[in-house]
Amino acid sequence: MAQVHLKNVVKKYGSLEVVHAINLDIEDGEFVVLVGPSGCGKSTTLRMIAGLEDISGGDIEIGDRVVNDLAPRDRNISMVFQNYALYPHMTVQENLGFSLKIAKFSQSEIDAAVQNAAEILSLTDLMDRKPGALSGGQRQRVAMGRAIVRHPDVFLFDEPLSNLDAKLRTQMRVEIKKLHQKVKSTIVYVTHDQIEAMTLADRIVIMRDGHIEQIGTPLDVFEHPVNTFVASFIGSPP
Ligand code: ADP
Ligand code: MG
Repeated sequence: MAQVHLKNVVKKYGSLEVVHAINLDIEDGEFVVLVGPSGCGKSTTLRMIAGLEDISGGDIEIGDRVVNDLAPRDRNISMVFQNYALYPHMTVQENLGFSLKIAKFSQSEIDAAVQNAAEILSLTDLMDRKPGALSGGQRQRVAMGRAIVRHPDVFLFDEPLSNLDAKLRTQMRVEIKKLHQKVKSTIVYVTHDQIEAMTLADRIVIMRDGHIEQIGTPLDVFEHPVNTFVASFIGSPP
């Protein structure tokens, strides 16, 4: 677990500023959802936390370290994307263990971590299958399993459910909530889906045009939207 702090974090692409000095303090073990319309800067913000994008100004802290100049692998984060790329030629077991193998963990350490992740995500009966023989939801569980084998302090999710059909999306929300209760890591989760945000989050962060409009619990934001944009985005009653 770790806190995450964004202090006046700015992102520019050339002369175009797409994230404007945002501030966000995330507690240990908190589930925070960044939500807002397409293009408002959610993925860019997440990718800056992950270290996949340089920041153009400000500071990012994970745990008690400023991570501005740290490579992604040194930040103790795991990221799950929308297009979860599993290795098609490897079994579920091998997919789960691959990052540990690369990091030169011993086979017994790999087996223990993989077994633990498989139990948490109900994958134990699927270990010998290859991704081609899995359903969309099963594949997504393997992708999450790959993220948890390394016990990161912070999980970053970017629209992990948007490729799934509506029914599966609802089921996976429950799975993700359970996962959070079991691993108790800090989670920063990006979605453009208000319902997903409201059901998953301890606190939601509403973004628009590279700004944060409001931060609060789902109920708080629903009942006390700070402006008409937030009210209409969340669907608060007028
Ligand atoms: P969201 O995830 O909320 O849909 P993004 O963070 O992907 O939004 O994008 C925020 C803004 O930054 C958008 O206007 C997008 O076009 C722009 N943008 C994202 N990536 C790049 C890039 N590599 N180069 C230039 N502009 C980018
Ligand atoms: Mg995005």
